[in-house]
Amino acid sequence: MTVVLETLELTKKFGGLVAVNAVSLSVNAGEAFAIIGPNGAGKSTFLNLLSGLMPPSYGDIFLNGEAVTRNAPHALRKQGMARTFQNGRLFPRLTVLENVMAGACPGERAHLLEIFMRRKIYDKWQATIAGRAEAALRRLNLWGLRDKFVKELPFGVQRNVEIARALAADARIVLLDEPAAGLNSAERVALVKTLNDLKNQGLAVVLIEHDMSLVMAWSDRIAVLNFGEKIAEGAPQEVRANPRVIEAYLGTEDGHA
Ligand code: ADP
Ligand code: MG
Repeated sequence: MTVVLETLELTKKFGGLVAVNAVSLSVNAGEAFAIIGPNGAGKSTFLNLLSGLMPPSYGDIFLNGEAVTRNAPHALRKQGMARTFQNGRLFPRLTVLENVMAGACPGERAHLLEIFMRRKIYDKWQATIAGRAEAALRRLNLWGLRDKFVKELPFGVQRNVEIARALAADARIVLLDEPAAGLNSAERVALVKTLNDLKNQGLAVVLIEHDMSLVMAWSDRIAVLNFGEKIAEGAPQEVRANPRVIEAYLGTEDGHA
């Protein structure tokens, strides 16, 4: 078993509020790992810490055994950490291919003068990006749609484009924040298939999800957050039967993930 991601006591405070409180967990290659918890439990913040969007107040993050705790998002992308967002961030007026190429861009500052002086290097860099984008699109069966504008595509397909974009940077682990939100049931089925493909290709997949039936059916392991703390972790059946989890979900209408 290869550990891809590990966090130790990861903590984020916003003023007096502890949004993520000393969360330690690890995720393996080829593992379907879900993070659930009531609204405001700290799930999105946890993902923001993992992807370098904000620095933790305390604690550490290891990626493939290397400490990456304060690395910037583009550095983390290069190291194999990919993510999608709760309210997708595709460019609607760009094509599928253009969107995915934006994800493949390793984020190095391409110095303009350098580009003019060293055209060949720039061309090679572009070819690398195009190659990665193509590989990601083919992996998700989107290559045939590469010239379509994103805004013309159904929601479910857009979600897959987001995943392709995340993968285009040679990902080892992909973090998804509520990817099933707004999808119809057929699109959800397609999403689960995509997530399973990624897992079967050896990626670690970390999913924040609202839909309990999806989480219970898909996950190998589930971590439950409540008020920033991890209150339970285990296989779906164990987590479902855990009294602390049941208590955390009491008082919420439908068990928000
Ligand atoms: P979840 O994704 O589980 O619904 P969040 O991670 O979005 O929860 O939020 C956890 C807590 O942190 C909430 O109380 C939220 O209001 C607070 N929070 C999230 N982001 C910020 C921020 N940038 N500044 C201040 N408070 C924040
Ligand atoms: Mg959230």
